[in-house]
Amino acid sequence: MSELQNIVTIDGPSGVGKSTVSRKVAAAIGFTYLDTGAMYRAVGWYFLQQGIALEETEAIAEKLADVELQLFPAVDEESDVRVFLNGEDVTMAIRTAEMAMVASRVSALPVVRRILTEIQRGYGERGGIVAEGRDTGTVVFPKAAFKFFLDARPEERAKRRVLQLQARSVAADFNEILKMTLERDLNDSQRAIAPLKRAEDAVLIETTERTIPQVVSEILRVIDSKKNKER
Ligand code: C5P
Repeated sequence: MSELQNIVTIDGPSGVGKSTVSRKVAAAIGFTYLDTGAMYRAVGWYFLQQGIALEETEAIAEKLADVELQLFPAVDEESDVRVFLNGEDVTMAIRTAEMAMVASRVSALPVVRRILTEIQRGYGERGGIVAEGRDTGTVVFPKAAFKFFLDARPEERAKRRVLQLQARSVAADFNEILKMTLERDLNDSQRAIAPLKRAEDAVLIETTERTIPQVVSEILRVIDSKKNKER
């Protein structure tokens, strides 16, 4: 199987540090960071605005045809990708804990996954990307040359999420976030389509005891050593 040298995938459960790590890896190797979670969040936000219940499969398929999603690279390594839905800037609106849960429910719908997967592959065809999400190494880009799976204990992930939300001036309670983290893990790993799981050929990085710079260097080291072997 010929591998796609211009694609790096970084998957893992919520709150594991994937976004920050992915942004930094992308900046280091000159690739574009593709935040696939932001797409599921934006679609969830849209359905919520439109008052569409997730059981209304047909209405969802119809409405999805009207959705225009645009992602613009973050202005610097610390910022989020900017997300526009039908021309409206939803970057901030999709970053709440509530929208994370909505995204998790929306992401189990086959029609949503099919359309977002196509869009994500389209980004992949345009050039070097670091794709981050739950299924980027297993389903979206199974031929990516560089695949990683980040993991950490749930308590550590909830702690990181609280700090992340507080940094955005969003109030966050540790126990509440831990409960949501566990619920999202369960939804994401037990759904029938594209569940959260490590691709067999993804390098597992346990991040509980590691800092972001350590994780980033480990990923860059693996990418370099694989490239050198192939020279
Ligand atoms: O990564 P983030 O927390 O923004 O993702 C929000 C939700 O979107 C996840 O909990 C997951 O249910 C869904 N998601 C997904 N597949 C991806 C990325 C995110 O199902 N590739």
